[in-house]
Amino acid sequence: MTTISGARVFDGTDARGLATVTVEDGVITAVVPGERAGDVDGRGATLLPGLIDAHVHLRGAGNLGQAVRHGVTTVLDMFSAPPQFTAMERRRAAVRSDEADLRSAGLMAGAVDGWPAVMLPPDPSGWRIPGLSGPEDAERFVDDRLREGSDYLKIFVENAADVSRPTLAPATVAALCAAARERGLLTVAHAPTRWAFRTACDAGVDVLTHLPLDGPLDDDLAELVVCPTMTMMRALTDVASTGELLADRRLIAGLDPEAVAAMRAGDRGGLPTSSAAGASYEHAQDNLRRLVDAGATILAGTDANDVPGHAAAVVHGASMHLELALLVRAGLSPREALRAATTTPARVFGLPDRGRIAVGARADLLLVAGDPLADITATRDIRRVWRAGVPVDIGRSRAVSALH
Ligand SMILES: [Zn+2]
Repeated sequence: MTTISGARVFDGTDARGLATVTVEDGVITAVVPGERAGDVDGRGATLLPGLIDAHVHLRGAGNLGQAVRHGVTTVLDMFSAPPQFTAMERRRAAVRSDEADLRSAGLMAGAVDGWPAVMLPPDPSGWRIPGLSGPEDAERFVDDRLREGSDYLKIFVENAADVSRPTLAPATVAALCAAARERGLLTVAHAPTRWAFRTACDAGVDVLTHLPLDGPLDDDLAELVVCPTMTMMRALTDVASTGELLADRRLIAGLDPEAVAAMRAGDRGGLPTSSAAGASYEHAQDNLRRLVDAGATILAGTDANDVPGHAAAVVHGASMHLELALLVRAGLSPREALRAATTTPARVFGLPDRGRIAVGARADLLLVAGDPLADITATRDIRRVWRAGVPVDIGRSRAVSALH
């Protein structure tokens, strides 16, 4: 049994004032107002549900450990390959307390010889990422993903005129959505332009990810569920986007020192900036404001994709704290940003056991110094992390920095 005493509590929806939270066998068993005797002194700190990053890509063993050390206790992978790798990560994440828990789309739906097939080097075994030729391939594609254990379906939506490779026709996107819906599978669309947003919406996609960089959204926005990946949108439009991460000791203390050194030297893991005419981060910010004003549902996600030990423009774990700050800078309140990283993704992705601090919930918890509801960057001051009630070793350098 663990008792965390005297911390402010954000329960995933609202601030609950000072409380004492008790954890037994991986589950929260009591939330009592006020300060009681406890094993963990939470005075001056805020206890949050463990964060859920609603958009990552697994690139190797080590990503999930880096995530959980930064308080990200669940990640939603939006494409990883090959399926054997994803299955192995899934098995490990289910049982290890030093890694974030994982849900995954597995392979992403794209056109034959288009993305995502061209993103990966040829597999030595000759295996190739399957692509779709047209709507007639949709049911088979979805059935194959279900067989592999995909938790939802990720669909690559871009206008053929905008990219140099074949892309899915709108009718194929619609057929994929219909096949997924029939099988009870949620759909998530990669949609970084106005055309892609409109096409994905018309096709009946459940969740849109990224935001148009090429101009304002003007359709009915209230019913949309969007994971804007502001960290990636900024990285795509600003070669110096890693500057904020590298300038904050709290964010880099838990990262691989060699990766940090490479990032300081300008290595972005090969990510190019967007070549689309008129692409700008201002459009992404403006579109996020439009969505928030319309009452759309927002999810916090980073698009983290670092290969363990290597530089990248967006890295697992640490980038989630940047994402929260970018959401606030674009117009969400800190409370709305924290909901977007806890309760809301748990609801949208069908994870009712987590994302909140309440009796009976899984004890995925993050204790941070200060009050992130007043200053969202306080989430970077990590004191403790628990995954299903088990304390996570957040690393010596981080623990030392938390004391000062
Ligand atoms: Zn992505």
